[in-house]
Amino acid sequence: MNSYKWEVGTVFASREEFKDTVMSYAVQTRRKLKYAKLDLVRVRAACQSGCPFWLYAAKMKEEATWQLRSMNLKHTCGQSHRVGIMHTSWLGRTFKKKVEHNPRVKIKELVNKAQRKWNLTVTTSMVARSRQAALDDIHGEYRKQYKRIGDYCYELLRSNPGSSVTLKVQRSPDFEHEQQHSSLNNYCIFQRLYVCLDACKKSFLQCRKFIGLDGCFLKTPQGVHHQLPRRRVHPAQANQL
Ligand SMILES: [Zn+2]
Repeated sequence: MNSYKWEVGTVFASREEFKDTVMSYAVQTRRKLKYAKLDLVRVRAACQSGCPFWLYAAKMKEEATWQLRSMNLKHTCGQSHRVGIMHTSWLGRTFKKKVEHNPRVKIKELVNKAQRKWNLTVTTSMVARSRQAALDDIHGEYRKQYKRIGDYCYELLRSNPGSSVTLKVQRSPDFEHEQQHSSLNNYCIFQRLYVCLDACKKSFLQCRKFIGLDGCFLKTPQGVHHQLPRRRVHPAQANQL
């Protein structure tokens, strides 16, 4: 972002995208920006009192996009260690990778990361809320992935004709639609998935009559542990037995 070049006429997909860009700029340059105007059709970002810097974006007519209309990029202020417009959802998105890698990452570690990366001071309470926002986002993504299992099975069968794919779900008695209600009165819950690819079936016929069983556990953010049994045939081992 240090090299980000503001250009009048640049189009942003949404107001949020423009605000995110302003936020990233404020963080990278350590400027105390604020919104002098912020409504559904225009946003004006300004710097602290006495500094002439400003950016003005407006919504395009009959479109969802926003456009940077005018600006003054000159700063006469000094850099700051605090950025007032920084908010938890932006910080949460920034920390997302780290939180995904280690959901129990310490608040202090994230505070230090902000200090090292941007030379900025962020409060522990803001970092705590940001970590929670990142976790909520990650958990939501995991839940969404369950909705794609049916598509995954279809794709397995399409790209591997002759394979066996069986998906088992638990449906409530009144489940009629493929949409789960948040109240869980009407639900469809994943139970298990069996996959045997056609290539594995064919190669199985060529193996010796020795069957090995193996399995593994997967921990998900939902706290569900899955066991995945796998069937293996080792001709070399069979020879030794
Ligand atoms: Zn300034």
